[in-house]
Amino acid sequence: MNSNLLLDNPRPTVAAPALRTKAELRSALADARRAGQTIGLVPTMGYLHEGHLSLIRAARAECDLVVMSLFVNPTQFGPGEDLDRYPRDEERDLRLAGEAGADLVFAPPVEEVYAPGASTVVEVTGSLTGVLDGDPQSRGPEHFRGVTTVVAKLFNIVGPDVAYFGQKDAQQAVVIRRMARDLDFPVRIEVMPTVREADGLAMSSRNAYLEPADRERATALSRALAAAERGACAGSLSGGLGAARRELEEAGIEPEYLEARDAETLEPVEALEGRPVLVAVAARVGSARLIDNVLIQPSSNSNFDSPNF
Ligand code: AMP
Repeated sequence: MNSNLLLDNPRPTVAAPALRTKAELRSALADARRAGQTIGLVPTMGYLHEGHLSLIRAARAECDLVVMSLFVNPTQFGPGEDLDRYPRDEERDLRLAGEAGADLVFAPPVEEVYAPGASTVVEVTGSLTGVLDGDPQSRGPEHFRGVTTVVAKLFNIVGPDVAYFGQKDAQQAVVIRRMARDLDFPVRIEVMPTVREADGLAMSSRNAYLEPADRERATALSRALAAAERGACAGSLSGGLGAARRELEEAGIEPEYLEARDAETLEPVEALEGRPVLVAVAARVGSARLIDNVLIQPSSNSNFDSPNF
């Protein structure tokens, strides 16, 4: 859709159509591609919230055609993880996606994505996928192998010019950037800021698992990250991490990890030394496993100063 067409015909706020097969999607995109229109892709596992919608709106603002994928990807869930109970509400997702500006939703069944006997994977090896969530004590590198395999497939199926990801899953964004670079995918990767609830909790589909008391305790994660950032900006990253640990402890939360790492290489760091630092946390709160992070720029203002924090 070119911009004049859009101005002449304001976008109706209706549910986005769901396409189930690769063939349907390719044919729906063929004209746009031939006409040289730009295609934006927003990969999601659904149960949409404002975080997802911020990605769709960013794509809408920049691209002629916006495709959201809606696929709970089994290969990124380990045994004993929450694949079976992952929250789903497709009808609501299609409505919200359409209202936010998605033109199409690619919502394939599992067998359309993974043909019987599928035996090819895409894996970013080495230090990016073996730490934090990729640590074998945590979700393990298999998690990221599932992510990169499905995202590579989505890139091949959709052929986007731009793909949008959230800073909420900071390590995933770093890994996908590396994959796109290493495999020469002709796609620009955009990473958008984490959208938070008014009390600071990072929005997540998994927040639906939180009982009211745990929902309250979960706010300690963003308080901990704010404390880490304050310490780092005051010249003591390790002091900040200590304060963060205390915030979690007071809420009775034992982190799976709470670590400061170089935001690009994911190497551990001890201090702010002129490069962006990622402080990332994962913790089980009630029956939800939550992750959150703060990206600390060497000379930036606090990420937690925003009025809605
Ligand atoms: P998911 O459905 O959880 O796989 O997320 C789909 C995309 O939305 C990923 O790129 C996430 O990083 C992004 N996302 C999830 N939560 C948020 C959030 N609170 N703010 C911004 N982006 C998010």
